[in-house]
This record gives sequence, structure tokens and C-alpha cells, in this order.
Amino acid sequence: MSRVRVAVIGVGKIALDQHLPVIAANEGFQLVGVVSQRGARVEGVPTYHAAAELYAAVEVDAVAICTPPHVRHAIAREALAAGKHVMLEKPPAATLAEMHDLREAARATGRVIFATWHCRYNRAVGEAKARLRGKRLKRLAIQWEEDVRRWHPGQEWIWDAGNFGVFDPGINALSILSEIAPAPLFVRSAKLSYPENRDTPIAASLLFSSLAAPEGAPLTGEFDWRQQGEQRWDIDVETEDGLKLLLSHGGSRLEVDGRLVVEAPIEEYAAIYAHFAELLRKGASDMDAIPFELVADAFLVGARRVVEPFHW
Ligand code: NAP
Repeated sequence: MSRVRVAVIGVGKIALDQHLPVIAANEGFQLVGVVSQRGARVEGVPTYHAAAELYAAVEVDAVAICTPPHVRHAIAREALAAGKHVMLEKPPAATLAEMHDLREAARATGRVIFATWHCRYNRAVGEAKARLRGKRLKRLAIQWEEDVRRWHPGQEWIWDAGNFGVFDPGINALSILSEIAPAPLFVRSAKLSYPENRDTPIAASLLFSSLAAPEGAPLTGEFDWRQQGEQRWDIDVETEDGLKLLLSHGGSRLEVDGRLVVEAPIEEYAAIYAHFAELLRKGASDMDAIPFELVADAFLVGARRVVEPFHW
């Protein structure tokens, strides 16, 4: 395929921070338009208020859907029906059935669909995966603790049912974990803390089990949006044969036995677009549901606690 003519749907934080600059820097892609409900302008390309207007006006090969997850299924379905390839921001949909439906719809229309898990594109994640291959786990602790007011200012949608709450960032940890773990993990139990006035959790404590760990091993995940001071996106692992890995800074830094092994700049989205280009060349889709399944399972087995109301 020559240059891929791509449009971005939903011009919010991640579209502006990553998708638009990365597309501009990638010679394999050409931005041909954006779709923005509120009419956000992007230099050099037209803005359309609805995807149907975009499809009627310009030739588009692919769309990158950067909206909140609860509206993504309908937008992706419309794109596939219009013959477009689709890139989905994470989480790929609001429900697993929607995600599976999109995979099937892409297959039926002969289009490529790609569910991105951006944290997996850090070099330290690949290195951690290689070092854990074939190992048995003694201990695992995820600490994904950030200040929601700092990272999601004014994003009311994150509190609406269907938009994941603290698992909006937390699913990033689970996308790394499911990539590096030497065997599948299962959510054994979960405690979900819901602000009295909100429909999604502000914090969650998960206990996992794994085929690669003894029964009862402490495999835990702490996700919290109330973190003040130092922000943490860490995964700390110890194996039965004594290897200690600390994957920190969202998967961009790896220490092994206390020694820094990888510290790489975060270039996740350049790698995501390179992978998308490769998928388009091959005509192959990439829709790994495991991080999403872990979150869904946390909601299925989760005990609910009510905590103090949240106000911005
Ligand atoms: P955001 O700043 O709120 O932007 C989302 C955009 O989607 C809105 O600005 C709006 O743009 C569009 N939109 C369409 N329908 C909407 C609706 N019903 N409600 C609200 N917005 C709607 O959110 P974001 O931080 O970019 O996150 C979007 C997705 O990217 C999420 O799934 C998130 O998990 C993922 N993500 C975010 C980050 C990050 O750092 N923020 C990082 C990685 C992934 P228009 O007005 O232009 O239509």
C-alpha cells in the first residue's frame, strides 16, 4: 500500500499528545481529516462533525478512534461498514461482546482492526518478558497509583458506567502483566472502591493466581486514583529462583536484581503506528482481549465498597 490515508476520530488529550504528532512524523501515513463533535481544528486538514461526513467527503483508508470507550463500538462498526481499517485506543470497547463483535466484523469485511495496548511498546517490557520466560513466580506486586485530577482533568466520562474508572489507567498495567507473565494469570478476588457519587471505581485491590506460581502466592495489584506526591506505575516481580525485576515508569524502566538494565524514552505511539503499518501490509488484525478480560473479571468477582464522594 502507498501512504495510508488516515483520519483521527475524537480530538482529545491522547489524539493531541500522541496520534496527531506521530502521524505527522511518519512518512507511511497521511492525515486527511479529523472528526470532532465539538469542532476541534487541526492545522492543514478539514474537521468533520461526524464520521459519515468524513467518509462522504474524502478518500480514507483507516481511522484511529480516540474517543472514550463507551462510544467506540458504534464508531468502529460504522468505519468497517464504510470499508475502513480501524485502530482502537485502549480499552478497545465498553464490553467484551463488543470487542469480539468488532473482530468478527473486521473479518467479515476483510478490513484490519488493531486494539492498541500502548504500554506494551516499551523496550523494558520486552526485556522483562524475555527474563521471565519459563520462570515460576514467588511474588508479584502492581502499584498503579496516580492522581486523577492531574492526569484526567475534567474528564467527566471516566466516572460513567462503561468507562472503567481507575481501570482506565489500570488496564495499562494489566496489558504489561499479561505480556510479561510466564503463564496466564487469573483474578482470584477484587475489592473495588466506588465514590458515593460515582459509577466507576476510584481504587481497586486485586489478588491474582497463576499456573506459574504456587497456590496462595502473593500476586497483588493496587490501583488508586487518590495518590498524592510521587506517582507510581510499577510492577515488582520475584521469581522462585531469586530473580527480582522492577518494571517502573509505566514500563519504560527495568531494574534486575537492583541494577538498572533498561531506561528508554517513551516512544510507544511511534511503535504503535509502525505495527499498524505492518498489519496493513499483511492484511492481519491484532485484537488481544486478555487485558480487557482481566478487568472484566475484576468487575465480575469484585466486592463493592463505598468511599467518600469525589469532586474535581
Ligand atoms: P479526552 O481528552 O476526554 O478526549 C476524548 C475525546 O473523544 C473528546 O475530546 C471528544 O473529542 C471525543 N468524544 C467523542 N464522544 C465523546 C463522548 N461521548 N464523551 C466524551 N468525549 C467524546 O480523553 P483522552 O484522555 O484523550 O482518552 C481517550 C481514550 O484514549 C481513552 O480510552 C483513554 O483510555 C485512551 N488513552 C488516553 C491517554 C492519556 O494520556 N490521556 C493515554 C493513552 C490512552 P471531540 O470533541 O473532538 O469529538
